[in-house]
Amino acid sequence: MTLDLPKTTDDILTEDVHLVQSFADLNALKQDGARTAIVGAEGTMVTDSEGNELIDGIGGLWCVNVGHKRREIIEAINQQLETLDFYSTFYSFTHPTAAALAAKLAELAPGSLNKVHFGNSGSVANDSAVRILHHYYKRLGQPQKRKVLSRHGAYHGSTHLAIAMTTPEYSDGWHKAEGIVHHLRKPHYWREGDGMTEAEFTDALLDDMKSEIESLGAENIACFIGEPIMGAGGVIVPPEGYHARVADLCRDYEIKVISDEVVTAFGRLGHFFASKDVFGFQPDIITTAKGLTSGYQPLSATILSDEIHEVISGPGAMFLHGMTYSGHPAASAAGLANIALMERDQIPQTARTTGKLFETTLKGLGDLDIVGEVRGSHFMIGIEFVKDKVSKEIFDPSLNIGLKVAQKCQEKGLIARPLGHILILSPTLILSPEQIATIGAILRESITEVMAEL
Ligand code: PMP
Repeated sequence: MTLDLPKTTDDILTEDVHLVQSFADLNALKQDGARTAIVGAEGTMVTDSEGNELIDGIGGLWCVNVGHKRREIIEAINQQLETLDFYSTFYSFTHPTAAALAAKLAELAPGSLNKVHFGNSGSVANDSAVRILHHYYKRLGQPQKRKVLSRHGAYHGSTHLAIAMTTPEYSDGWHKAEGIVHHLRKPHYWREGDGMTEAEFTDALLDDMKSEIESLGAENIACFIGEPIMGAGGVIVPPEGYHARVADLCRDYEIKVISDEVVTAFGRLGHFFASKDVFGFQPDIITTAKGLTSGYQPLSATILSDEIHEVISGPGAMFLHGMTYSGHPAASAAGLANIALMERDQIPQTARTTGKLFETTLKGLGDLDIVGEVRGSHFMIGIEFVKDKVSKEIFDPSLNIGLKVAQKCQEKGLIARPLGHILILSPTLILSPEQIATIGAILRESITEVMAEL
């Protein structure tokens, strides 16, 4: 069936008044309408409804890792839909595609993370992880072990629990799950290091964490949840050794570690998973989504250790949890084809080199007067703008500095994501060195022009 879709920008925007965008200023949208309608995409590029070709500097939304319109994934989805459009993984049902993807993830995930529960978003993957741990501790006779340690700066999703685990600024003015989540300090040395060496700062973070655990009582804390590199909180790379020490501390207090690899997995940092391979720690649960299918289908995974699974699958353990689309056949097919493509073309391995080039190219922008810090790793970069490089004072938020730079970038053919006074780049992992140079040049020109207009 050919769908009758609006084609011109005006026609799209007429129908778009019924769409509620996410994380948007709905009042501004009501006045001005959406800014950009994306109508097509191929490889590293997207096309808007005005016919402009733009470099997709944000990989859809940190997710289109293998690039757009890859025939291999599209064909696998189509073939799956021709064979089995839908069946659930509820009760004792399974199907070959979900089973094969679970086995593949068990092979790729570190240590004894061998059991996979599927969902359809990163938020759901994180909610599932905590819900499963609550069930796990209840079965172990510790029903009070329910609290969650998260961090300022974290982003874990938008469902009721996931947003409570997210940094409080994201839920300002909204209700959220109360009493469960406790936020630790943001591990951002450049902003919060206060004259300490990086090692002293790490010690201070760990001391604070230890005090928080002791004041809440480890017997009341189910887990710590953390992104290996914080994404939507501004791309925060923790200090050297931080994650391994956090994991050790958690182990000492019998607190489970959930590594939220919704963004950092599937090649973005040069490996299938970053927890062990990049940061040297072994989580008890990894949650992931986004790059799992490169965005071709909505799919997430909550990957559990054998030990957790053993407890929740013991005698009399009914697992009262799941989503209709957990392990959806078309989404599982997309995941399998995406991983096969990554393995065949060695995309994570290549991203170690091209991602480093991307990182160093963007870090080269640090000489510009309003660039306070360029941070991140490989294909996950944040540029923080400051009014004053020495005091690190930020611009008045009403100036919308990030948006101003992003708009200039878009005029010059690059989509970047503004986040207050920070600009985020999380492109596809298949950029050529020439495209990386182009992105660097567009960013330099755009920032320079905005500086001149200030
Ligand atoms: N965790 C992290 C680290 C994320 O970046 C995101 C989304 N940006 C989520 C969880 C939530 O994923 P979703 O939007 O698919 O629910």
